[in-house]
Amino acid sequence: MAGRSQPLDQKEEIPTRRLPREIAAIPDGLDHEWARVLAILRSEVGEAVAHNWLEGLSVIGLDDGEIMLGAPTRFIRDWIVKNYLDRIQALWAFENPAVSSVELIVAPGLGEPAGLGETEGAESAGALPAQAAPMPPRKSQARPRVIESAPEDDTAGLDPRSTFENFVVGKPNEFAHAAARRVADSENVPFNPLFLYGGVGLGKTHLMHAIAWQIRRRQVKRKVLYLSAEQFMYRFIRALRFKDIMSFKEQFRSVDVLMIDDIQFICGNKDSTQEEFFHTFNALVDQNRQIVISADKSPSDLEGMEERLRSRLGWGLVADIHPTTYELRLGILHAKADTGRFKVPVPAKVMEFLAHKITSNVRELEGALNRIVAHADLVGRPATIETTQELLRDLLRANDRRVTIDEIQRKVAEHYNMRVADMHSERRARAVARPRQVAMFLAKQLTQRSLPEIGRKFGGRDHTTVLHAVKKVEELIANDQGFAEDIELLRRTLGA
Ligand code: ADP
Ligand code: MG
Repeated sequence: MAGRSQPLDQKEEIPTRRLPREIAAIPDGLDHEWARVLAILRSEVGEAVAHNWLEGLSVIGLDDGEIMLGAPTRFIRDWIVKNYLDRIQALWAFENPAVSSVELIVAPGLGEPAGLGETEGAESAGALPAQAAPMPPRKSQARPRVIESAPEDDTAGLDPRSTFENFVVGKPNEFAHAAARRVADSENVPFNPLFLYGGVGLGKTHLMHAIAWQIRRRQVKRKVLYLSAEQFMYRFIRALRFKDIMSFKEQFRSVDVLMIDDIQFICGNKDSTQEEFFHTFNALVDQNRQIVISADKSPSDLEGMEERLRSRLGWGLVADIHPTTYELRLGILHAKADTGRFKVPVPAKVMEFLAHKITSNVRELEGALNRIVAHADLVGRPATIETTQELLRDLLRANDRRVTIDEIQRKVAEHYNMRVADMHSERRARAVARPRQVAMFLAKQLTQRSLPEIGRKFGGRDHTTVLHAVKKVEELIANDQGFAEDIELLRRTLGA
């Protein structure tokens, strides 16, 4: 990191507390959580204060529920502790319930331009004076970082279990699987881009990782970069902030295979992120480099995506992954059981029961299986249908009756006689804004989705907008009998 080798200002207090070594990596999303906390703070304290005081803070890690933030000087640390620590703590706990407190330490150099200049060497070279607390390596190290490091080091973000060998092929995913294999096995570019889409937990990320592993194994010379759209955006914003756009561009454009997961994340982001992505995309396609994209929708359904980008995304091969079938679910369960990782066997009857009942997605199916196996192992008896029913009561109920946000939007639109499209539109007229708020409220109440996820489903709105809607509707319910009855009616129509 650029500022790491700066000598410590002798006037600075050297942190007495040594950083625990365990917090070696910033868990996924911590930087994003901080970005969101900062965004809210910015709206509360104003641009100037945010810029002068808050932007210099950097996330060091999360340790046992405690976030550790580094401040560039003691003066800033003290000032923030006095004025904003409570607020930061509250906002963070809201973003991530696992966070119980926030601690600020003096960590000069950490707030310097971090991003793209950080190389493996600079990271570890950290020539800190001996008395300074050892800096744990930042999580960015653990993220996919082919563009910053040698090709053999870029597997950090890839799940070793997500290979083609471990992917069970069935009717719903055979097309996507075949397309992914073709991309992974070809030495040229069979179609550009490969666009994989499907609902949550159906194997998109698994297939992308599988492509990356396969190319890594068979075509070592090709540079592969896998990252989520969120990470792409984050890096881009960082580069903008630290005026490092040129190297950002160069690094992205030097890869042979670029894979961006969950592209829907940049929908509704009408700012420069989409623009930059578009240019990166075009530059790579022009040079005949392979691009693989995943999303939760087809290109034409990506609302909030610029038209030219949307059409570009559909130029190559678009392959969707359909919801699982009973056969595929059972196949996946058997495959997991056959890996021999489980100490206690899972009876075939129990697997059939699970395949029959957990229909939502593979992630939940895996979770259910793991829970059963862990329990059986603990009590030392194989699982039965009865213990399974008991253990998975919540999950089974949720799978029995699962309301989707799309369904909520449709029903609410119908109820208020408005167009479903206005659930996503920018229109602010009361006649559409209020029903939209109602739909957001119901989405929060009736689904497991988080505020940011809900916001995204409503034309890429911010999570604070969703929160505001929820509060507003609660207030109306409390004060307006007629309104409350309306909501109750809607809730019942939705089967909740
Ligand atoms: P998505 O990215 O579509 O939300 P993931 O790829 O993360 O879904 O898949 C969720 C989990 O289910 C992962 O653990 C993945 O390995 C597993 N999974 C999904 N589809 C399959 C499959 N066909 N065979 C084996 N495992 C699968
Ligand atoms: Mg995924």
